Amino acid sequence: MPPKSPAQRHHALAAEIRRLDRAYYLEAQPLVSDQEYDRLYRELLDLEQAHPELLTPDSPTQRVGGAPLPHFTSVAHALPMQSLDNTYSAAELEAFVDRIQKVLPGEKLGFVLEPKIDGVAVSVRYEHGRFVQGLTRGDGQRGDDISENLRTIRNLPLAIASAAPVLEVRGEVYYPQVAFDKLNRQREAAGEAPFANPRNAAAGTLKQLDSRLVAKRPLSIVLYGPGELRGIACATQREWLELIARAGLPGPERTWFCETKAGLLAAIEVLDRTRKEFSYATDGAVVKLDEWRLRNALGATSKAPRWAIAYKYSAEKAITPLEKVSFQVGRTGVVTPVAELKPVLLAGTTVSRATLHNFDEIRRKDIRIGDRVTIEKAGEIIPAVLGAVVETRTGAEQTIVPPTACPACATALVWDGIFLRCPNPSCPAQTQRKIQHFAQRGAMDIDGLGESLVEQLVVANLAKDPADLYQLTLEQLSSLERMAEKSARNVLDGIEASKQADLWRLLFGLGILHVGAGAARALASHFGSLEKLESASVEELVGVRDIGEVVAGSIVAWFGREENRELLRRLRAAGINTTAQQTTVRTGGAQLAGKTFVLTGTLSEPRENFKERIIAAGGKVSSSVSKKTDYLVAGENAGSKLEDAQKLGVKILSETEFVELAKVESGS
Ligand code: NAD
Repeated sequence: MPPKSPAQRHHALAAEIRRLDRAYYLEAQPLVSDQEYDRLYRELLDLEQAHPELLTPDSPTQRVGGAPLPHFTSVAHALPMQSLDNTYSAAELEAFVDRIQKVLPGEKLGFVLEPKIDGVAVSVRYEHGRFVQGLTRGDGQRGDDISENLRTIRNLPLAIASAAPVLEVRGEVYYPQVAFDKLNRQREAAGEAPFANPRNAAAGTLKQLDSRLVAKRPLSIVLYGPGELRGIACATQREWLELIARAGLPGPERTWFCETKAGLLAAIEVLDRTRKEFSYATDGAVVKLDEWRLRNALGATSKAPRWAIAYKYSAEKAITPLEKVSFQVGRTGVVTPVAELKPVLLAGTTVSRATLHNFDEIRRKDIRIGDRVTIEKAGEIIPAVLGAVVETRTGAEQTIVPPTACPACATALVWDGIFLRCPNPSCPAQTQRKIQHFAQRGAMDIDGLGESLVEQLVVANLAKDPADLYQLTLEQLSSLERMAEKSARNVLDGIEASKQADLWRLLFGLGILHVGAGAARALASHFGSLEKLESASVEELVGVRDIGEVVAGSIVAWFGREENRELLRRLRAAGINTTAQQTTVRTGGAQLAGKTFVLTGTLSEPRENFKERIIAAGGKVSSSVSKKTDYLVAGENAGSKLEDAQKLGVKILSETEFVELAKVESGS
């Protein structure tokens, strides 16, 4: 029950925030997502604004989070290390600019926008060009001396090209993304709790007392802010970033200078699109007034400067209670456990369901009903449950028990390795998923044929397989619920248009076990027609790029089944295209065949277009650079992948060079 008075609410909120701070800063194990924390924090701020009498000096709004680490020497900062005000809204960012302009009327404002590095804040001190000390932010006034641990960070120079008596620079120590995934896999294998995110991994590592252990972890650093400076003349953030770069210190990969609100919002968008390429995690953009003279005029609150603000991107991870588990039957009969969650905001959308993958995963991660679970949205895939927050267990949580009967047709389920399967081939849930798979955008791309319509078609017994779609009439469709004649007509048009779809779309849409979109493309371009593929032997199939014995066996078995041959016969009778449109291969791109490409940076067209072109010409696209990569196509602002390619000696192509290469004919 919510507390009755503002004072009680204040007390409860402050206590909750202190509890979350302890878990986050001291134990490096957050109990809720940052967005949820920021929501509670904002509520506390608003409450204190409405009731100033509630504001006490020990309120969490009055101090920078964090506390001294045990066993380290605490040292006073020469200048306080502050936090930043933050917002998740463009309107509030605009209000921030307006507020500054109002306080500084007539001044021409310029802002530097930097990535907000999701690491651990540190202050590094150089005297006469030599590294002398490194401190954590601590409570903002005093930090812990972690000099020995910082010395192990390979990209932090111990001597710099500046003879200034004092050059103190602030920045973030981070755990590189790729290494972070590896670290967590190792920890899980060793039975240790994985770190919630790279920031916690960096914080956990810096807390180590033995710097030899720290040296084994691949920590890195980015520096961006001034601390105490003596013997240095600098007037703007832009000059400062140049100055530290000249001194040999690692700065942010990319920054923007903006003079308008629209410019800031545009830069924030570009950063959001490109930040995945950085080697560190970013959780937002930091907007800073460029001119230091104007910064001084604005000053700071007890916690944050008035001249800067963090614009945070919506979380891609969230923590929420797992209320119940339902079971979903896929097109091959595999039963997938699905987490039914208390709705939570994740990357801009409200999420109430996430996949639990399989029962083996549930056992391994020990996820229980009633747990608070961490969920993550990876790309366009539906969110997945990463694990449970065991610290908040009450003892009332329940084990997840696999069902014994199919939730759709009540047939007894059978175990197939780690998977639970419904063995009934006419199970309505399987039929529905098969048709959905066939119609989806990545396959036959039938407009208007969404999940609920397919469900209605199956329930009304109008479609038992994909071929039935081509027999549907206007009357049948418009008799369905929420189906006006116009929408019914659109669906029919979509079905008609799908008859012309390229062969690979059909092959993928058929849902042959192990044949994904990539294999389907390879098969279509190799055989050119369904007829040739149908009669291919396992030996012929393994001669196709990317097709191994398992896939080949699965294809031959699929075409061998009578019910599938019947399905193809009916699809052909309906007038479906069964040949490949191999234009790209014939008109160029011979140099791309068999080659592995990685795409990075901003290209003039969506990456998908380049990918299609490479795949259609027989090349491969991979997401990371390795020794096996033949070419890196680097667009504007390419980041860490470009560096990786340079290190490994991978050939780097500009977009224009790639286009030239793609034009080259075989033998010409
Ligand atoms: P913060 O991380 O939101 O932002 C301030 C910090 O950003 C600065 O102190 C600096 O260290 C860092 N930063 C990164 N890149 C920067 C750049 N280019 N320029 C300037 N600064 C940059 O604030 P905080 O005080 O470190 O932590 C508070 C935040 O931590 C909260 O808003 C919340 O999101 C999170 N938090 C979460 C929990 C939880 O339970 N999930 C608990 C406590 C705090």
